[in-house]
Amino acid sequence: MDNASQHHRTATLLARMTSTAAVVTLIAIMLTLTIAGVLYVASLQHAQSAVREETRLVRMTRQAMMELDRAVLRMMNTPQDPADALAYGRSATKLDSFGSTHLPPTVRRDGVDVSGAATLASLRSVWDDVFRKTEARTPDLAREAYEAGGVDRDIAALIAGFAATLDVYELRYGELQGTIDRTIALCLAGQLLTGLISIAAFLLAARRGSREANARAAAMASADAAREHTLRLFEMTDILQSAADHADANAVLRATATELLPGFGGALYVFNNSRDRLSLSTFWGMDGDSLDDHIGLQQCWALKRGKPHMNGADGRKLCCEHHHGPDFALEIPMIARGEILGLMQIHANGAGAEASLEGVRKLGSALSDAMSLALANLGLRDKLRSQALRDPLTGLYNRRYMEDTLERVVRLAAREKSEVSLVMIDLDHFKRLNDNYGHAKGDAVLRDTASLIINNLRESDVACRYGGEELLVILPQCGLEMAAAKAEKLRAGIEQLSEPNGAQVSASFGVACIPATSEGARDALAAADAALYEAKQAGRNRVARAPVPKGGETLKLAAAE
Ligand code: GH3
Ligand code: MG
Ligand code: MG
Repeated sequence: MDNASQHHRTATLLARMTSTAAVVTLIAIMLTLTIAGVLYVASLQHAQSAVREETRLVRMTRQAMMELDRAVLRMMNTPQDPADALAYGRSATKLDSFGSTHLPPTVRRDGVDVSGAATLASLRSVWDDVFRKTEARTPDLAREAYEAGGVDRDIAALIAGFAATLDVYELRYGELQGTIDRTIALCLAGQLLTGLISIAAFLLAARRGSREANARAAAMASADAAREHTLRLFEMTDILQSAADHADANAVLRATATELLPGFGGALYVFNNSRDRLSLSTFWGMDGDSLDDHIGLQQCWALKRGKPHMNGADGRKLCCEHHHGPDFALEIPMIARGEILGLMQIHANGAGAEASLEGVRKLGSALSDAMSLALANLGLRDKLRSQALRDPLTGLYNRRYMEDTLERVVRLAAREKSEVSLVMIDLDHFKRLNDNYGHAKGDAVLRDTASLIINNLRESDVACRYGGEELLVILPQCGLEMAAAKAEKLRAGIEQLSEPNGAQVSASFGVACIPATSEGARDALAAADAALYEAKQAGRNRVARAPVPKGGETLKLAAAE
């Protein structure tokens, strides 16, 4: 796993832990508040019932006071009734049992605030006085004491006081009820909110879970695809190792690209021999008409920059000169060991073509890398093969190659009943030239001679360095006469090299021909060598033919049949 994805995983884990902690904290706070609310409501209800109890006691005190007053009045009206005296006693005991606790603290009497308890005590003494006077059968005195005692005034003051006290309790009760209602509403809202947060957290966790599961599934699918691509690329690289030539490599590329990039077209351009431009080597999955056969180095941004380049169909973008047609094309330069070897194009058209090409950029580059390596290997193999077959000084084929080729050409000619001629060439007095002008001059003359020979041969002719300053030319489908004429032409040409080299240059030639002068390859080589010796003997700078046996040409042709 790389650093970035490790970092990403740590960040995700941290974020998840933080959000879980936040949700848990929130729920804990909500629960604490709800419990506190319930306890608070219980305490308020307790206070409320205390208020209600106090109200009840105040009311009962008031009632007891009124009952005592009524008992006094009844006693005054019916002085002889002993039941009244009993009722007075009962009422007085009841009132006294309440004590002074539930009385209004102050009452307003004659515009002055006085203590409620004192007012009741004064009433009690008046009522007791009236009671005694009634018992003493002095009703007039009793009535006089009642009126003089200001009973009506004191009762009115106390009743107003009770009313005020009850109002205060009523108000207090109402306030407590309001606080209870609000607290309960708050608790309910808190519980609702906690429930909602829990549900939301659950849903979020579920969604995140399913998103993560989806992401994991997608990541696994893409890893599978990447593994498959890598396997195919490995396979391609492996098969490319055994590609014998460009045609083989192209076939592997076409098959792999068609499989790995289905729905995309593509083309491969590689450098020509002179490395001045790229030539179309192969294409797949598209019509080749829109492809140029050649691309100049200066026409292509991908080659100029050494980086992949996107060519658009709409003229919006910087577009390579060689690009035409309705396609989008991703151009990938193929570079191996720092050297540009070619250019791979991936084509797409229609809606979303550019985006889909961007999507396969990595895969295209991998494909191009594999192919670059194959091209580099093919180039290297060509070079090695040519090094194994050719002589480094003259560029002519070496003696080993000549021997293999001569056998093959001779066999082919026998089958086709055609002629093969051999021309053996040896530079004259070459030792002297070396001695007089130096070895470097000798090398230069050898090189000039080789290229003169090459330039005067047909493509099917093979020129080799037989050894030292001896060269051999194999001329398939060439008779003795024609070979001698060719040798004469070469001889004249070599002589012409004297002037530019500032030294006398010439060569002697021995010509042999199968079947005219010789039967097989070995025979012909010996005959050409012998003819060359003849030419040397005859004074050099001349062409000598191997002798034709009498009637031999026709005889040998017949024998070959
Ligand atoms: P002749 O006319 O009889 O063929 O005389 P010659 O001197 O050419 O013959 P000889 O076989 O005596 O000498 C061949 C010389 O060619 C000897 C050698 O120094 C020279 N030679 C062979 N290979 C090379 C080469 O690669 N470079 C150079 N500079 N000289 C070479
Ligand atoms: Mg020589
Ligand atoms: Mg020689």
